[in-house]
Amino acid sequence: MKGTRKSFLFLLLASFFWLAPSQRLNARTGTSRVPERSSAGSSAAKSKPAAARNEAPGPVAPDSGGLREVIEDRYKSRYQVWKKEFLSTDIGRAQWEMYAHHPRLVLTITIAANNPNGAATGKYKWNHDGELIEATIALGSQVDQGYPSSVYYPVMNALEPFESKQLIGGSVLAATKIAHEFGHVMKIAGTPESLYRLQVQLVPVYNKIFLSNGYNTSDPRLEELARKMGGNPVQIWEDREYWGEANAMLFLRDRVAKERFHCKLFNKIKRTVEEYAKGYEERFAEIAKSQGASYSCSWR
Ligand SMILES: [Zn+2]
Repeated sequence: MKGTRKSFLFLLLASFFWLAPSQRLNARTGTSRVPERSSAGSSAAKSKPAAARNEAPGPVAPDSGGLREVIEDRYKSRYQVWKKEFLSTDIGRAQWEMYAHHPRLVLTITIAANNPNGAATGKYKWNHDGELIEATIALGSQVDQGYPSSVYYPVMNALEPFESKQLIGGSVLAATKIAHEFGHVMKIAGTPESLYRLQVQLVPVYNKIFLSNGYNTSDPRLEELARKMGGNPVQIWEDREYWGEANAMLFLRDRVAKERFHCKLFNKIKRTVEEYAKGYEERFAEIAKSQGASYSCSWR
């Protein structure tokens, strides 16, 4: 079952990569598409002190980073609810502050109407020293709804039964998706620009061959391409998504720490990771283990 599903997804993803322009290699959530900066204007979170830089979009001074929230008026109230939820945790506040005071990286957060339940991170730019200086997180306009598949999103998906039992609200899902996207930013900040560019360049090449050779991943040409870019397109993609999910789990670790269902949630994540993401289990297990002495969930 697992193999069949993965093969099917492989084809879907390979098709996606092949059909899509290279910049769509951006990390995505659920059925999300490439972020499109909303045309709108002013920023939100006026009450947030130095934490966020709220200038309207425009040229950013070099050597100066920060968080820039570009939220259309019609989305401001819901955005504030999601942001407040994210900032209700120690880890959410710490990560927010890190980017708000970042010396170089300008992280823009916006809301895109074209992808209501998803989110996406992209528009990366690096400086001459190879340091990430720009990234954009585009949240869906209804990011507080919609649970992506358990195969690639074991953390976000695990929340679904808890919402249906009214143990959590949509804002927790939205904040978890924000955490997932922050995970993408953190991961890409540690990825050399040259490797990212190489992947953007070679993934379509890989997929063109893959679709014309009978889907044979053992093709020596494909093995060589995968070696050059650090994995085949699906491996690259799932590694990115599971880093996003690891940060989503970090957020939930704090968010549900005092909830009586926290072990149930973590055990559900554990079962899904074991089923679909066994090769990536370590990054999730580390987070589970960091829950502290007062927790006794079975992830050991
Ligand atoms: Zn993602």
